[in-house]
Amino acid sequence: MRLAVGCDLGATNLRVALVAEDGQVLASTREAHGDREPEVVARRIAARCADLFAMAGRTWNDVAGVGVGLAGQIHSATGRVVVGPNLGWRDVHFAALLRDRLGRDVRVVNDLNAAAWGEHRAGTAQGVDDVLVVFLGSGVGAGLILGGALYEGASGLAGEIGHVKVRPGERLCGCGERGCLEAYVGGHHVADRLREAVHEGRAQAVLAAAGGDVNQVGPHALHLAAEHGDPFALDFLEEMAAFLGLAIGNAITLLNPRKLVLGGGMFHGISRLRPLVERAIRKVAGRAQAAELTIDESALGDDAGLVGAALLALP
Ligand SMILES: [Zn+2]
Repeated sequence: MRLAVGCDLGATNLRVALVAEDGQVLASTREAHGDREPEVVARRIAARCADLFAMAGRTWNDVAGVGVGLAGQIHSATGRVVVGPNLGWRDVHFAALLRDRLGRDVRVVNDLNAAAWGEHRAGTAQGVDDVLVVFLGSGVGAGLILGGALYEGASGLAGEIGHVKVRPGERLCGCGERGCLEAYVGGHHVADRLREAVHEGRAQAVLAAAGGDVNQVGPHALHLAAEHGDPFALDFLEEMAAFLGLAIGNAITLLNPRKLVLGGGMFHGISRLRPLVERAIRKVAGRAQAAELTIDESALGDDAGLVGAALLALP
């Protein structure tokens, strides 16, 4: 069976794995980012590859491709990172840099595109040709499989559902624009919005759930307050679901996917959220386009990007 190396350059961790063509992870490593200089990251990936081969009893001769997934805008034909905000990269020819270090061709892709491909080839959307994958964590993003192929868009920026406007001109988003979905439902923004509500005296149960420490107010405290039936927390979740339903439901009408895959830490951390979001999506999506739509949880979870990056690199 052919093997590939997959790398996931996340916001906090560098992960590298040896992945079989059926999506099975044979060996993997995870470490916190140190120096984020591209040359240093390339050197660490090379070192981790050597570790993985030792763990799995393999060599470079067994490897048919190397794929790297990271958040940001990627020029997919060349593997140039136009903007990689988590790493502070701008105009980094990372595919070329890593190729020089490893002596192998390298494919660099957006992390959500990698995750979507992972679910399509080895996860919950196997055999499904039209898939929308949405991950809700500290940020919000999506990947698109259309007609069995990864759809990256004209500038490699398709799938940025976190920056679909749900309240144009209002709350400032990390991208510099106003009114984005992410500014209301991304984990970092949820924590900010809850703290604002605490300061306005509207979220006392959430503050209590955080042990009275405003710095601990965030999605977990929101979850606990909602489980205790706090009306503010329940309303807040309903509003989050409505924003997500608006953006995702309209995407369903536009793209008519057969399957929607929902993943990311916010769905795991806030158990009430998923059913609310599914209901909100069904309310917004066109009835005809959603008639045969199935909605599933991500099967690969945290590994989706890692596995997808590896499988995308297989020729
Ligand atoms: Zn934005």
